Amino acid sequence: MTSQYAYIRGTFVPLEDATINIRTHAFLYGTAVFEGIKAYWLPEENRMAAFRLKEHYQRLIQSCRIIGLQHPLDVDAMIDITKELLHRNHCNSATYLRPIIYKSDLRIGPILKVPHTHDDFCLFSVPMDGYLDTSNGIKVGVSSWRRLDDNAIPARAKVNGAYVNTALAKTDGYASGFDDVVVLTNEGHVAEGSAMNLFLVRDGKLITSSITDNILEGITRSSVIELAAKELGLESVSRTIDRTELYIADEAFFVGTATELAPITSFDHRPVGDGAIGEITKKLRDLYSKAVHGLLPDYHHWLTKV
Ligand code: PMP
Repeated sequence: MTSQYAYIRGTFVPLEDATINIRTHAFLYGTAVFEGIKAYWLPEENRMAAFRLKEHYQRLIQSCRIIGLQHPLDVDAMIDITKELLHRNHCNSATYLRPIIYKSDLRIGPILKVPHTHDDFCLFSVPMDGYLDTSNGIKVGVSSWRRLDDNAIPARAKVNGAYVNTALAKTDGYASGFDDVVVLTNEGHVAEGSAMNLFLVRDGKLITSSITDNILEGITRSSVIELAAKELGLESVSRTIDRTELYIADEAFFVGTATELAPITSFDHRPVGDGAIGEITKKLRDLYSKAVHGLLPDYHHWLTKV
């Protein structure tokens, strides 16, 4: 592999030099926000394109606003840096991008806003084909860990420290033999997957958790809602979902930037539908894959071509 670059402290540096001091506030307290973005090779154009890049950076700024970080760069500047990184790293296949805005002061004490505080932006890329092996569908369990509440660490913001919750849920799920997990809200309603949003199909309708049920307002979720409506004429209902609805769904799938669209074939060892990947799920997976690879001209506005 050619040498890889990352962006940190206002400049591109070799990846191995993109390091932080162990006294960094974000390392001590988890005071950082991030995004997971994916860029794909467009087979018909022989170049890369990042999927819904603007929306990811808008959400990163929203995460800053929620937890009270300053964002050192605006959306356009972060887009330019991302394009430059994809160039410098000679990316020519599916690539995951991880921008982070982090509290970079070397300071003891959790308070976020003090005079002369510093928040920095950094970015790196890694090749990523599949986050989960989803070819035959995945087995999912309901986690005993609950999703963080909006009044604890808001799930609506992608806060680094909050991913301890994801790590606990996912690790215990793996140990129990599941590929991934569904996490519930404190009230016991279905929130989302460990790091993905959930859709159920019931009676030909798509159902996905309400944005007020402690979920991340996912960009793949909104892309799938739009594709389902425009391409398949399928309505999506966002509402509170009960745990037992998982057990009687006709089809189910997770969506997320890294996960893409992952068909779910069982919940808590109970088969979803007849235990095979559902027809609507297959169609949406195909549409999503075409959209990210630039094969649906109507959705080229979702792509930032590099
Ligand atoms: N929920 C959580 C907790 C996540 O970490 C992610 C991944 N970013 C998602 C949902 C899916 O969001 P998106 O489609 O924007 O990647």
